This record gives sequence, structure tokens and C-alpha cells, in this order.
Amino acid sequence: MAGDPHPLAQRIEALARTQHPRVVGWRRTMHRQPELSFQERETVRFLLAELAQVDCLEIERPTDTSIVARLRGGRPGPTLAIRADIDALPIQDGKHCDYRSQVPGVMHACGHDGHAAMLLGSVHLLSALRNELPGEVRFFFQHAEEQHPGGAAEMVEAGVMNGVDRIIAAHVISTQDTGGIVVRDGPAFASSDRFVLRVLGKGGHAANPDRCIDPVFVGAQIVANLQAIVARNTDAHDALIISVTRFHAGEAFNVIPDGAELGGSVRCFSDAVRRRAPELIRRIADGVAGAHGARCELDYVLGYAPVVNDAGVAGALRHMIERDMPALQVREMNPMPNSEDFGAFLQHAPGAYALIGARSAAKGICHPHHHPMFDFDEDALLHGVQLFSNAPFTLNGA
Ligand SMILES: [Zn+2]
Ligand SMILES: [Zn+2]
Repeated sequence: MAGDPHPLAQRIEALARTQHPRVVGWRRTMHRQPELSFQERETVRFLLAELAQVDCLEIERPTDTSIVARLRGGRPGPTLAIRADIDALPIQDGKHCDYRSQVPGVMHACGHDGHAAMLLGSVHLLSALRNELPGEVRFFFQHAEEQHPGGAAEMVEAGVMNGVDRIIAAHVISTQDTGGIVVRDGPAFASSDRFVLRVLGKGGHAANPDRCIDPVFVGAQIVANLQAIVARNTDAHDALIISVTRFHAGEAFNVIPDGAELGGSVRCFSDAVRRRAPELIRRIADGVAGAHGARCELDYVLGYAPVVNDAGVAGALRHMIERDMPALQVREMNPMPNSEDFGAFLQHAPGAYALIGARSAAKGICHPHHHPMFDFDEDALLHGVQLFSNAPFTLNGA
């Protein structure tokens, strides 16, 4: 049983409902003016103007295009950070609604406009409840989630996590119906690293492969053998994805080239697997190349860390949702092989990432993220505001 609702839960819901049209308005304003990663200047200007209307906030600018707003509650308690990403994507908006993107070739095709609007809504709502609020809430409006090296790492570098006890975030998701919410224990998103592998052989005439060391042949063996890392070197319970996505070699039909260059993406859900992957790739590549008289050079670039939810924080949120937001349904979902730079924050404090259902077949809202027709059900914004506004009372109040 979920138990009695928190005494403030109904007030939060009523305030969130009253405020909902404003939140939708903020979202649409940002949707019309999307900005690419690391360029979110107008978005930040808009958010700062809105935040200036809220009492008792302390505003900080950790980087050019990010904002941290601090709200100190009237009661003692720990510090909870709540993060929303604010950047858009290089995609031409294909929708025909009045809030479609006004910027050619740029679009909020992942829903980050909604995240920023939800967080702004919870800033307003929690400031109205400041006297009852335990501890501090730090609202992170984060730039550049969509582009490596990501805004989260930059904000961490600027010190935003100093003194933060827990952190949460949420993403609207167009594969779950509105009214559903997912907060997993453990892995939520995969890490995303990449590699470039140069195979150094010896070129020559295509008619005389015996006098060459053919890097195309060697590269092909390496591509096939890399999957042995997944199938034969990794525990079956630890998912690992190695996708070779590039293979460049040679120009002519009758020339065996000197070298070949392979590249690809490595994704997994645990730091331990992530740490082992480069060495395993190097071992396979060196071994296969050596067997054929070739050599290899590996460049391995770390990208986003996996997002691994803390079971304590995730469990507390699920319990809170069932108790305080009974209209929402807590659902199950597998971890996603996509990546998210929220993991950078989780290296510094335990936290959890929620997925808020935002699909509505009845409204024709069912396109995937990063699609030119992407949209989300704005009813989900209400759930996001409620989640963010209830969370400090549960996570800071215990
Ligand atoms: Zn995205
Ligand atoms: Zn996203």
C-alpha cells in the first residue's frame, strides 16, 4: 500500500493545475526559438527573465549558457538538485502547428523545451511553498545535452555539485503513454564511447595480394572478431554493444591500399564493463592484425558515462508517486541503449532519472525523439511539475 499522501501533495497538484497553461506557454515560446547545444543564449535570456519574477532565488551562471537557481527552504534539510536540459537539435521542424520552430534547420525534437518549462514551473511552485520547504533545492538549467562533451560535465567542472546531496532529472518520452512514469533501479541509459582503429598494412597491385598486407582483409576480420568481446568476453548479464559504423579504405578498383580506418560506438550499462572495453578491443585488434602481419593503432574517446539510478532515491520516488500522485501509473521499462550526459552528475551524488510518458495516439503524438515530426503531449508537463515539486518534500524531508 502506498500510505497516506503527503499533506502538501494535494496543494501541489492544485497549484500545478492552475499554473499549467503558463507552463504550456513557456514550453511553446521555447519551442518556437530552439537553439543548438552550447548556443542557448536566447533560451537563457528568456529563462532568466522568468526567474527574475520569483522571490528569494539566488541565480548563478556556471557557464555561458546554463543557469543554477537556488531556493533555500524555511526548514532545515539537505540539498536536492533538479536538472532540466534546454538544448535543441539540427533538424528541420516538420510540424504545422502555431508553435513550430521559427528557426530554419533547428528544432526541439527531443522535448528539452518541455523539461525547461517543467523546471520553471516547479521553481514558481516551490517558491510559493518556501516556508514549508525542507533544505535547499538547486534548479539546474543545463545546456548542451545533445552534443559531446556535454553541458553536464562542464557544470560539474564549474562546481555546481558542491554540497548537493541528491539529484534527479526527468525526460518526456514518446514511447510511453501519458499517465505512465518509469523510475528504474540501476541502469537507465547506456554509456556512449567511440573509437577509431587504423589498420596499417602494405599496399600494392590488386593482382598481387601475396606481395601485400591487405588492410581491407585484416579490417574485415577485426570487425567480425570484435563481436567476440560481446559474445565471449562479457558476462551475459552485462549488456555491451560494439557497433562498427565506419570502414574507410582505398579508392581504386585495382589497388590494395596501405591502410584502412574503422570507427564505431561502444555502449554499456556499468562502469566496470566500460573500463574493460578499450583493452579488449585493443587485444582483438592487435591479435588479428599481428596474425596477418599488419599493425593497428587505436584511439579511444570516452563520451557520456552510463546513467545508473541509485536504488534508494529511485525507490523513494516511486513510493512518492504512488502515494502523492495516484493518477500516475508507475511502469516498468528496460534500460535504454541511448546515452544521456546526466551520468556526469551522478558521479558526484546519488540520484535518479525518471521517464515521463508523453505519447498520445488520440492526439496523433507518437513520433520518435529526434524525428522532424516529434512532439509530446503537453499534459505530461503537469506530471513533470508535480514530480519535481513533490520530490524535495520526500527526498529532503526524511
Ligand atoms: Zn535527444
Ligand atoms: Zn533528450
